[in-house]
Amino acid sequence: MLTKIIREEEIQKVKKYIEKGDKFVIITHITPDGDALGSSLGLYHFLNEFGKDNVSVVVPNHFPSFYKWMPGTEDIVIHERYPDFSEQLIRASDVIFCLDFNEPKRIDKLASTVVAADGRKIMIDHHPAPSDFCRVVMSYPEMSSTSELVFRFICRMGMYELINKKAAECIYTGMMTDTGSFTYNSNHPEIYTIISELIRKGIDKDLIYRRVNQVYSESRLRLMGFSLYEKMRVFPEKHSALITLSQEELRRFRHVTGDTEGFVNLPLSINNIHFSVFIREDKDYIKVSLRSVGNFPCNEFASRYFNGGGHKNASGGEYFASLEDAVKVFEEGLNELNPNNFEEIKNISKI
Ligand code: 5GP
Ligand code: MN
Repeated sequence: MLTKIIREEEIQKVKKYIEKGDKFVIITHITPDGDALGSSLGLYHFLNEFGKDNVSVVVPNHFPSFYKWMPGTEDIVIHERYPDFSEQLIRASDVIFCLDFNEPKRIDKLASTVVAADGRKIMIDHHPAPSDFCRVVMSYPEMSSTSELVFRFICRMGMYELINKKAAECIYTGMMTDTGSFTYNSNHPEIYTIISELIRKGIDKDLIYRRVNQVYSESRLRLMGFSLYEKMRVFPEKHSALITLSQEELRRFRHVTGDTEGFVNLPLSINNIHFSVFIREDKDYIKVSLRSVGNFPCNEFASRYFNGGGHKNASGGEYFASLEDAVKVFEEGLNELNPNNFEEIKNISKI
């Protein structure tokens, strides 16, 4: 039995929208990750199983190829590729689900169309501080993933039976990727109750792990080696580490979307490193990923210095200047918001 986390009136409202609605669109954040895709496709398969045949998943841009095995990805409409078609879908829909993001900025060029659309908007998300652009805001930051929330939401509507194997595979993928394969943010016992239900639905969890984590290219692994050997800087007295990659370096290793996913976590395997930042020079801007362990709020670091946000232990941001400037901002930030000033980090080593 799962605790009733989602408020009853939200469940009832959204249930009514689903029953009455005809055209549905599910939208998720830019550069969709496993949870963005998993929650969106999980809900997509559920709605199909419920009998809704006019459901579209729209994403702002491309997603990494190692998620292409997920059932339903072939039906996803990528806004960057089909801008007019996806905007038309949004404008025509009765119900718009906004999954795994908390503010319009996170869906990039889709933002104005979504905000202006007439359809009933429902946010299902686990990022703190949701902004006010949806009619129903199902925001639960204590949840490890939006995919977990989607599972709970369907169950609370009394429709567990309508979660098919395809939906279960997508939901599991989101739960797995947002917890680093259940290595952080994953101590809640009910996570494992849900996993056992998903296994009953027929998923092969070991296969899903391999499909997501063990399908990289040779050049990606070499880029990882290069990043660790040549590009990682460690600041032991600040319990922090930094990896940067320039466009030129990315090109040298024939980088494709998704290749640097997870790099930000690598320095956290060093004893006494509690804060890790990865700065990547993209074509139009600098992408910053931040991770921490323990009580250091990397989302505060992201919002103060990199126009970003996210969770306490996993956040990100964007920076619109040179890579060198971004590094300077990081170094200055580290002096101000020094992890060594956090009691827990100062006093407790990891082992
Ligand atoms: P990642 O480093 O994997 O891109 O992002 C980790 C988390 O940080 C995401 O789940 C999201 O919550 C948050 N995040 C990433 N980029 C941004 C950003 O540009 N703005 C905000 N507000 N949050 C971000
Ligand atoms: Mn998520």
